[in-house]
Amino acid sequence: MSAFSKKIRVANPIVEIDGDEMTRIMWKMAKDKLLLPYLDVELEYYDLGLPKRDETEDGITLQAAEAIKRHGVGVKCATITPNQDRVKEYGLKQEWKSPNATIRAALDGTVFRVPILARNIPPAVRSWKKPIHIGRHAYGDIYKSCEFRAPGPGTAELVFTDGSGQEAFRGLIQEFEGPGIVQGIHNTDASITSFAKACFVYAYEQKLHLWFGAKDTISKTYDARFRQAFDEEYARHWEQRFEAAGLEYSFTLIDDTVARIMKTEGGVLWACKNYDGDVMSDMIGSAYGSLAMMTSVLVSPQGHYEFEASHGTVQRHYYKHLRGEKTSTNSTALIFAWTGGLKKRGELDETPEVVKFAEALERAAIETVESGIMTGDLIRVATEDSKNRMVQTEEFIDEVAERMSAGL
Ligand code: NAP
Ligand code: MG
Repeated sequence: MSAFSKKIRVANPIVEIDGDEMTRIMWKMAKDKLLLPYLDVELEYYDLGLPKRDETEDGITLQAAEAIKRHGVGVKCATITPNQDRVKEYGLKQEWKSPNATIRAALDGTVFRVPILARNIPPAVRSWKKPIHIGRHAYGDIYKSCEFRAPGPGTAELVFTDGSGQEAFRGLIQEFEGPGIVQGIHNTDASITSFAKACFVYAYEQKLHLWFGAKDTISKTYDARFRQAFDEEYARHWEQRFEAAGLEYSFTLIDDTVARIMKTEGGVLWACKNYDGDVMSDMIGSAYGSLAMMTSVLVSPQGHYEFEASHGTVQRHYYKHLRGEKTSTNSTALIFAWTGGLKKRGELDETPEVVKFAEALERAAIETVESGIMTGDLIRVATEDSKNRMVQTEEFIDEVAERMSAGL
């Protein structure tokens, strides 16, 4: 008999955001086989698959972000960020913006990413014993920028007009002698300080050291403002608490942080500016085993949460699937997006049975991998063992479901 013979009621709705390609397929499988048999849950569904975004002129993306603000908790499947190839492939009206960038711009906040560890998946870096958490600032920089292709000789300037309409600043970017490119990026004090605060709160609660790296030697105003916000937040609110808890906060140049990360044993929250976090979290995820072994949650300053996988739609596997070939795609991070949302929902609603269910599902997924049943991405890096067996996409989910229903 299952430990969950009666359906567990989730007290408040969860915003479900569907996506594209291989992850869309796994998303539905995971929902149908691992969640709906056990849960009585209201899912407010938003289809962010590319055809629907095109049909709604991307309005559906903003609606999804608004729904997360309303209900507090959302779970999101991976979505295509269209480029010119996708415009042709899907016959799009235009190259719609990245849905993640749109949602993050609407919610603001910080994305926290943590590798999911399994005993038989050793990290590529020998010194890593504990997870390295990434705290990625989720607002601004190149993700909300203005770009221009300079067609030929000319002058690019940076101009700021203040609230009263007066020109308050004009600086030369470049006198072009030939064609080139220009980009204007920004951030706000409010977003940077809330990023700093979110990182200190997270590190302190999880008992992690906090490292922040940026490039303030080169960027003496922009990156320097980030450093100043972290230093001020630390001095004002955290120094004594961190010292008492034996935790360290350090700011170093990003190059130095990257070098030190390779020598740490983990147990660190690595706070990253938006682009650094985008790139470095893929490196960390992959080095701990696979992009599909990493959780990701966006935490807004207002306390709204969006859980997702950090990897993309796994396009290469999807095309194989479309050709009728077998795929072995790992659904672990998608499963953890659901469990992350459920745990948060249970915590906010004070329904510990929902949290317990989500934890049991996470254990079932890790236990499946640890018993040697895994997808292709992991079999390549797992500790060698005669019981290791590579399974197909759906088989992996079935194996997790079996452990789930056995009431693990
Ligand atoms: P990707 O989907 O992350 O996949 C890159 C490669 O990583 C795959 O080809 C595969 O390697 C491996 N991989 C990733 N997830 C895996 C999984 N669950 N199981 C097994 N292997 C996995 O990145 P992409 O191919 O560059 O991007 C595809 C689309 O995703 C793009 O349209 C992009 O815009 C979108 N994207 C969305 C998000 C998001 O919504 N959060 C994030 C990133 C990218 P092998 O091929 O070697 O097996
Ligand atoms: Mg990325």
